[in-house]
Amino acid sequence: MAIKRDDFPLPDVDDPLTTPFFAGAARGELLIPRCETCGEYVWYPQEACPRDGGGLTWSAVSGRGTLFTWAVVRRAFLPAFADRVPFVTALVALDEDPAVRLCTYVVDTAPEQLVADAPVAVCFRPLEFTTVPGRSVIVPMFTLT
Ligand SMILES: [Zn+2]
Repeated sequence: MAIKRDDFPLPDVDDPLTTPFFAGAARGELLIPRCETCGEYVWYPQEACPRDGGGLTWSAVSGRGTLFTWAVVRRAFLPAFADRVPFVTALVALDEDPAVRLCTYVVDTAPEQLVADAPVAVCFRPLEFTTVPGRSVIVPMFTLT
């Protein structure tokens, strides 16, 4: 399926499944959907709890976690990323529930410093691309603590 949004690769902040996530990030809050019935976190966002069908409420979490895995991207496969390389993309396991793994960026850190399970903390930064001038989206990124 071809992506036809003219602001790609910015995230689609108007998708109803993820609008609260990006609205929270814009306010400096990391929000994760949590089941109103069983209390478990549900990630990735979906319509209902996959365990019991319960409704979901976006809940603030601490923003602390550990580095589950990462990749140092040194070659841009899309023109939008040409001026961003090298960068670190990662999966961060949240302290509240390590099964919740956010696909994110690790910033302000030399790649050589990264080790598995390293403690990290969220920060909120604008995601911008020169191919989408004048637009940015605040997203959760992580730094080593
Ligand atoms: Zn549930």
